[in-house]
This record gives sequence, structure tokens and C-alpha cells, in this order.
Amino acid sequence: MGIYTFFDLLNHFPFRYIDKTKIYNITDLNFNTQHVQLIGELGPLKMAGFGQKKRLSSYLKDSTGKVELVWFRGITFLQKTLVPGATYLLFGKPTLFRNQFNFSHPELSLASKQNQTDIQGFEPVYLTAEKLKTRGLDSRGLFNLIKTLLHQLNMGHLTENMPATVLKELNLISRLQAYQKIHLPKNETDIAQSKQRLKFEELLMIQMKLLLLKNSRRHTFKGFVFETVGDYFNNYFHKVLPFELTGAQKRVLKEIRQDTLHQKHMNRLLQGDVGSGKTVVALMSMLMALDNGYQACLMAPTEILAQQHFKGMQQELKKVGLTVALLTGSVKGKARKQVLQYLKEGIIHILIGTHALIEDPVVYKNLGLLVIDEQHRFGVAQRARLWRKNTSPPHVLVMTATPIPRTLALTIYGDLDVSVIDELPPGRKPVITTHRNDSKRLAVFGFIKEEIAKGRQVYIVYPLINESETLDLKDLMDGYESIQRAFPKQQISIVHGRMKPADKDFEMQRFVKQETQIMVATTVIEVGVNVPNASIMIIENAERFGLSQLHQLRGRVGRGAEQSYCILMTGNKISADARKRLSTMVQTNDGFKIAEVDLEIRGPGNLEGTQQSGVPNLKIANLVQDQAILQTARNTALQIIEQDAQLLLPEHQSLKQHLNSLGKGSVGWAHIS
Ligand code: ADP
Ligand code: MG
Repeated sequence: MGIYTFFDLLNHFPFRYIDKTKIYNITDLNFNTQHVQLIGELGPLKMAGFGQKKRLSSYLKDSTGKVELVWFRGITFLQKTLVPGATYLLFGKPTLFRNQFNFSHPELSLASKQNQTDIQGFEPVYLTAEKLKTRGLDSRGLFNLIKTLLHQLNMGHLTENMPATVLKELNLISRLQAYQKIHLPKNETDIAQSKQRLKFEELLMIQMKLLLLKNSRRHTFKGFVFETVGDYFNNYFHKVLPFELTGAQKRVLKEIRQDTLHQKHMNRLLQGDVGSGKTVVALMSMLMALDNGYQACLMAPTEILAQQHFKGMQQELKKVGLTVALLTGSVKGKARKQVLQYLKEGIIHILIGTHALIEDPVVYKNLGLLVIDEQHRFGVAQRARLWRKNTSPPHVLVMTATPIPRTLALTIYGDLDVSVIDELPPGRKPVITTHRNDSKRLAVFGFIKEEIAKGRQVYIVYPLINESETLDLKDLMDGYESIQRAFPKQQISIVHGRMKPADKDFEMQRFVKQETQIMVATTVIEVGVNVPNASIMIIENAERFGLSQLHQLRGRVGRGAEQSYCILMTGNKISADARKRLSTMVQTNDGFKIAEVDLEIRGPGNLEGTQQSGVPNLKIANLVQDQAILQTARNTALQIIEQDAQLLLPEHQSLKQHLNSLGKGSVGWAHIS
């Protein structure tokens, strides 16, 4: 169970408590009664049945009534030890049998003086394992160990690790008290206070680690200075950029400029909803690097997206005299060699591609800025590896695919500065989203026909959770055929993960050039693909998609001036969670709200892409429920570091020691430290 030391044992927190502060009257038992305590006289013991069906029965009687007790196991032992006529304290959950309440296998203990003290308070319940239970280490057994341990502890064992001012300001109980009260609470206040203290401690340590990491990185690495805004930037801005930047885009560009102007190593997260225009911000940041003689690169999560970025940027940047190249898995042989060669010589200014970009043996002449687009999978650990690879690492701008709830961002990206684009380009009409049953398919097809007649284009997306799953592929092909039958006059594209990149690209291009009106696809088009004329997104088997995926897919439409629609198709049978996802999609277009709901449904560990991003294994805090505590922890950590970044002050010594001891053997700290 991951318990190796006494301290591990102390950190094995109860997952719930049984209220033993109350003793019930037998007449008060009802349908909703959970575990209760009764006190009363034990009736005579009766044996009934034969062989396997043998059972022992009796009753407990208090001043208000009587209730039946039954046992099916360990009967001989019970018969020997139970004392009819004595007063017992009973603990158990009543069940209704033939209209009567009874307790099967209740816990009974003689209501002696000693037990009376047990009655007060809350009994903690611990997670344990079947095998341990058979050795006497059930919840009670663990409790006994922990109790024994706690009685032997003193301040010296659990030294306070938080500055006194913090404890006082936030009204937190001491560390020793917290450990005592979480395992041996007398009342609800004890539970609440100890949880508050321990959760805060857990979250504070994470924030301290992240912020110290950020701080030390800032001191270790001097960032390249992008001193001038020169011709590339200005020519692009004045002669090429086809629209006015939004206020939010301008603000973010200023933030990036501030970072790169002051010898500060930039490590910035750019959050912005789908379609908010992150690409142009990335592009213009790259131009800042180029204006100062550096190279820049842009890493995309998929080949299609890399190609799309490449085509878009190459076209625009030719006009300002820059050379852009593409490097993905499918650039091979001679072509690859040449790219690598030109990159090293600095002939290539901007390199666009997939993960290949930052792997060996890719050598840049002088890489000044790395932009990571639509990437969740690039966690603290991966980022840290980048710094190791380069003595002077490039500035890094990470752009997220889906907004991340602020609290989660603080933890996963707590070492980054955050910029937010909270404004969509003007003139966008919010996408109208509906949920339709498969039985409405004809009506939906009719609607598609009308829109195509108006010159619009349509995406029809099928789930392909695992690209190698033949069944999913069959769904897609069947769908494709039925769509061909339903739309005999239309040209239809199809794109899926099993196609060769060149074929995929060919089909995508036909759709982009409006040679086809319908694009049947799997989620390969999920991120980033940009075809402003497409105004309908049909999602088949929508119940099989996660929320952020649905939101990403919907973001493919609503990019032009036309009213766009997203139609979620499902069968009749859908789970409660799926229904919640679908109704959330229908209700809101706000990516941040959607991310919050996603976090609620799935919990932080399962959120899209966060698995590898280093959400630490939390022992007691919960990133969904404890957002307020997290925010406080973040603020406290910021204050401490602002005051004493090296943790040199006497009042910070215990905190420093504690931080140093973390990560040694403790699971979950590895990817932060
Ligand atoms: P995302 O943030 O999802 O990556 P993109 O960068 O792909 O979004 O931008 C979506 C679309 O909006 C693109 O067609 C882009 O050209 C357009 N766009 C971006 N910024 C503006 C703006 N300020 N005004 C008008 N259109 C814009
Ligand atoms: Mg994008």
C-alpha cells in the first residue's frame, strides 16, 4: 500500500468517518439509516438451521424497542463469548427484512466504562486491502496502529514546517495537531481544521517547488534578448497581416515583448479558446526572434496541423523574405538531410513540424524561440529536459488546445507565466449547438443539403479513439457510404489516421479549395484545422467523445462570417456523464466553463492530456474541491519567495528543510523536482 515508514502510515488518511457521537433509539431506525450506534441489553442466543445454513440470532433491547440480530459466520465463537442479558454497545447498518429492521453481523462490545470513552468522537475509516484484512489489518487494525503511533509522537517528530506568521494569518493548526486530529477527531471541527491544514500544506509545497524551479531557472539561464522590433515584424504587420489584431492579441504580444526584452528567459503559457487567434500571436513572436538574428520553430501535435501551419506561414512569410521549412516524420531521405543542413547553416529561418523538431539530431544555428502549439502533453518534466539539452535554451511559448481550469493550470503549468486571449476576433457569430437523436438523421441531412446549396461546407466526424481499431474504421467507412448515397451530387472527402500522409493531405486540400463540400473524417481534424467556409460540424456517436474533444471539434466551424452549427448525433442509450457532456456543449461556447465541467466529471488526473503533464498524486487535497485553498497556497508561496527567494531567513529554515526532504522516495514529486 505504499506504506514503508511510520510517516507513510501517518499519511494514510481516513477516507471517511463514522459518527460515533450519537446513540440512536431503536424506534428511530428508518429506511435512510446508515451506520448507527445503539445501546441495550442482549437477548438470549438462538441457533437455527443446519449445515451451511446455520445461523445464530438474538435481539437487542433498549427502552424504546427491540431489534433482531443475526450471524451466519463465526457462530461457535460468538456463542461462547457473547453474554445474554449484558448491556452492549452495538454498531452497524440496519437492513429491512420482512418489514422488520435487523442487523446482520453487527459489531458488539460490552458497554463498560472504557468503551464509553470510545463512543465519543468519530471513527476514521481507512482504505485497506483484502489480504491485509485477513491478517487483522482491516480499517480497525490500521486505526489501532496509527493510534499507538500517535500516542508516542511529540513535537520533535512532527516539526512545524510552516512559518509562524503563515499559521497565524491563515488561522491554521499546528502540524502535530493536524495529524492527531485527522486520525482521532473528537468532533466535526477537528476534522475540518486538520483537513484544512494538511491540504494547505500539501498544495503549498507543490507551489513552492514550482515557483522555486521557475526562480532558479530564471537565475541560471539568461534569456536571449530580442532588442529590436525590425523589418520582418513591421513589414508583416503593415503589409501582410490581413486584419486588425484584437486587444487581447496586442496585449499578449506586449507581454512576450517584455519578457524577451529584459534578458529574462521566457517560459510562457498562452491560453485562448479555439479560434481566438493564437497562431498569429505565435507568428509575430517568431518575427521578433528573426528580427534579432535568431531562428524560431513551431511544434504542432499532428502532421496535418504542422502542414497547415507550414503552408499558411510559408505563403505569408515569403512576402517579407523569410525561408520557412517543414520537418515531420514523413520528410525523409535527401529532403530531410537538406533541411537539417540548411537549418544548421541558418538558411532556414523558421522550422515547422512535429515532435521531430526538438529531437536529436536536429541542430539549429541559433534557435531563439520555440513555440509549442496545441500541446497538453508537454509537461513540466519535458520542459525541464529542454533546458538540459541547451546551455542557453530558447524562449518557450506553449499554446494550449483547450482552456485549462485556472487551478489545474497553476499546478501543471505552475512554473510558467500565463497569458490569456480572452477575446474572439470581431464579427464571429457563436456556433449554435444541438443534440439530435439518430432517428432525426433525415432531417439533419435535409439541413445539410440546404446549407450546401448556400455554398457552405460540412464536416462529419466519427470517433476513432484508437486509430488501429478496425471496428471504428468500419463505422467510418459505413458512414461514408451512406453519406455518398444521401448526397449523390456532392463531392466528398475522407480523411482518417490509416491513410498515407500524402493521401490525407490531398483530401484535405480538396476540401480547403472547396472542390469537395463534405469532409468525412476521424478526429485527425480535431486540432487546429482552419477552413473558414465550413459552417456545419456533425459529430457522430458524440457520446463517445470527451468534452474537450467536442469543444475542439466544434471550434473547426464558426471561423467565417456565416452562422455556424454543431450537431451532436447520438443513439438513445447514453450514460449520465455523457448526457452531462452533451448538455454542457449545448449550453455554452465558453471553453473555460467547459474545462471546469470536464474537471468536475473526470477529475484532474484524467483530464485530456494531463496524464503525462505531471499532475502530482495528491494525498489529501483535491484540485476540484479545494480551489480556494490552492489559490491561497499559491499566494502564500509567491509572498514567501518574493520576500526570501533563497529561503535564507531563520523563519524559513524548517520549510526549506521540508522541501528538500520531499522528492526523496516520495511518489509524485519526481516529475516536479
Ligand atoms: P486558434 O487560437 O484556435 O489557434 P487561429 O489562430 O487558427 O485560432 O485563428 C482562427 C482564425 O481567426 C484564423 O482564420 C485567423 O486568421 C483568424 N483571426 C485571428 N486573429 C484575427 C483577428 N484579430 N481578426 C480577424 N480574424 C482573426
Ligand atoms: Mg490553433
